[in-house]
Amino acid sequence: MENRHVRVRFAPSPTGPLHIGGVRTALYNYLFAKKHGGDFLLRIEDTDQSRFVAGAEDYIVDALNWCGIQVDEGVSAGGSKGPYKQSERRAIYHKYADQLIESKLAYYAFDTPGELTEMRERMKSAGVASPQYNVVTRGGMKNSLTLPAEEVRERLDRGDNYVIRIKMPRNKDIKFEDVIRGWVSVNTKNLDDKVLFKSDGMPTYHLANVVDDYLMGITHVIRGEEWLPSAPLHVLLYESLGWQGVMPKFAHLPLILKPDGNGKLSKRDGDRLGFPVFPTNWTNPETGEESSGYRERGYYPEAFNNMLAFLGWNPGTTQELFTMKELISSFSLDRVGKAGAKFDFDKTKWFNQQYLRSRSGDDLAKELTPYLKEEGLT
Ligand code: GLU
Repeated sequence: MENRHVRVRFAPSPTGPLHIGGVRTALYNYLFAKKHGGDFLLRIEDTDQSRFVAGAEDYIVDALNWCGIQVDEGVSAGGSKGPYKQSERRAIYHKYADQLIESKLAYYAFDTPGELTEMRERMKSAGVASPQYNVVTRGGMKNSLTLPAEEVRERLDRGDNYVIRIKMPRNKDIKFEDVIRGWVSVNTKNLDDKVLFKSDGMPTYHLANVVDDYLMGITHVIRGEEWLPSAPLHVLLYESLGWQGVMPKFAHLPLILKPDGNGKLSKRDGDRLGFPVFPTNWTNPETGEESSGYRERGYYPEAFNNMLAFLGWNPGTTQELFTMKELISSFSLDRVGKAGAKFDFDKTKWFNQQYLRSRSGDDLAKELTPYLKEEGLT
């Protein structure tokens, strides 16, 4: 494992424009890959068709380009482990879901939405605050663990709606070492029987993510903190599929916080406080709402990257200005903190000012002419 060729991926879902947090995840993955002479992959995770937003994929590719984050393999670059869009990989996932069923680590569940609601209501009235489909409740539901084998076969042959769920072990500690957070241990009694495969024939994020990371030879999963609660399930899937020997190392990045430190930075904060939260302009295809981006507001990608790099990482010295090359050689996950990083728009402006000052008069004239023309000043 230690000697594997480093391969990391940025795996956004095309549900809208990339937020600053998404670009930072991409940047850290890129810096880590390049520092270790490895590959940076771009994979589009579009298994949730109901959240698909037209134009989002192009937006992501364009924004990464603007930032100078070069994709070695992926939707925009091709490669030998494709396709790199999950909706084009359906057949692959089915095979692994079947493997889990055969080894009795997953099962078919036929419950209707009404039956699921009924179960939740029943549990609530018995005093369970957040009822789940789990080791306690699964025995009372309609699934291949409770129904006679013949009926299961009939239902499958008839084409009844079903999902495939993981069979969470009753009482098992799942442990893994997160590069940023240290040892994480979760007991399976706190986890539910998550759906791995949906009735629409698509895998859920969990199954698709793990299968693809395995098939694409990913060595390090560097992603936002919001995915930490899913990591124990992913570890269990690696074990269940017999892939523990090549399980990637996990690194969950700290949140990017509002300027006052009170909660996660959102688009609304940008609107309220007057700063962009997207790298480039975005027009919502459904509502027509326009959001401004750093590129169009006159920021240099170097300044934007430099600012992003410092949202969670520090070099351990007083140096603040880093070219991409310098970021690559200085970056390390050891210097990424656990605590949320406060977004600071003044600091972002300061970075841009530094890069603006370092431009020669000629370069500035070239760069500013289009803006002056737009204002009718030349
Ligand atoms: N598709 C997930 C997202 O949109 C990827 C999470 C991961 O990197 O595993 O953030």
